[in-house]
Amino acid sequence: MKPPPLEHVAPASVEEAVALLGEAGDEAKVLAGGQSLMPLLAFRLARPGLLVDLNRLGTELGGVRREDGGGLRVGALARQREVERAGLLGVLGEALGMVGHPAIRNRGTVVGSVCHADPAAEMCALAIALDGSLELRSVRGTREVAVDDLLTGPFTTTVEPDELAVALRLRPPEGWRWRVLEVARRAGDFALAGVVAGLDATGERGRVAVFGAGPRTYRVEGAAAGLVDRAVDAAAPVGDLHGGAAYRRHLVGVVARRALAQLGAAAA
Ligand SMILES: Cc1cc2nc3c(=O)[nH]c(=O)nc-3n(C[C@H](O)[C@H](O)[C@H](O)COP(=O)(O)OP(=O)(O)OC[C@H]3O[C@@H](n4cnc5c(N)ncnc54)[C@H](O)[C@@H]3O)c2cc1C
Repeated sequence: MKPPPLEHVAPASVEEAVALLGEAGDEAKVLAGGQSLMPLLAFRLARPGLLVDLNRLGTELGGVRREDGGGLRVGALARQREVERAGLLGVLGEALGMVGHPAIRNRGTVVGSVCHADPAAEMCALAIALDGSLELRSVRGTREVAVDDLLTGPFTTTVEPDELAVALRLRPPEGWRWRVLEVARRAGDFALAGVVAGLDATGERGRVAVFGAGPRTYRVEGAAAGLVDRAVDAAAPVGDLHGGAAYRRHLVGVVARRALAQLGAAAA
């Protein structure tokens, strides 16, 4: 199937992109790497009247860099493969290596993946594990919102239709160690379930962000002892032809326990 008729505009500046979104409201969709949006258009699951294409805005929206305080800023047009290769944050590269295939990651963006809010997306889990936030710009101004507060359900967020995400900020707490583990039927497939797990320097406190096991990615944190059970208790997976709900819930426990054990948590 082909996308329905629509207008395509490739603005020459972020200011112009934001103005276009402000005028069009919920008639418009932002196009970044297109790795999720183009299939949605082709299946006519999305029917925007206007596509605001960011792909001329590499200078303003590209790049990934360290920020003061140990954080990382990923621009909205930084491709997943570029961020993976930059090697600035081990756990980010590890998680990106599990997103689709290199061809997908050559086009797809980290910020686009967070905005898409797939409950099985590695990037959403990584963002909530590492206290990530999106910088959102619109004609009404700029706001910075924690990704954990943005995700409301499958493929839904509180990003307003006239808002452009310009960057993702990640703020890994100091001294923590991280591990990403998932179970997928084939390399490159979406995970049946997965976790981004972290432990502090003492090994006594940890976090587990879970993907593929509920309507949105979620995070549990606190004493390392009992973290696996809490991650499993919070799971609300829906079964499909790739794996039943009980199996996916079981997988959450398996990958959370393994990840924490690999990080050295005695209680895992
Ligand atoms: C074969 C295949 C395998 C895949 N496997 C995986 C996988 O294993 N794990 C995984 O997580 N994903 C996977 N994906 C999905 C895909 O990799 C990501 O969802 C994608 O990279 C999202 O980024 P994008 O730049 O392509 O976003 P787009 O497709 O351009 O946009 C996605 C959505 O986000 C919105 N958006 C994008 N950028 C912005 C912005 N700056 N501001 C506001 N809204 C914005 C768009 O309007 C759209 O609604 C796969 C895709 C394919 C085709």
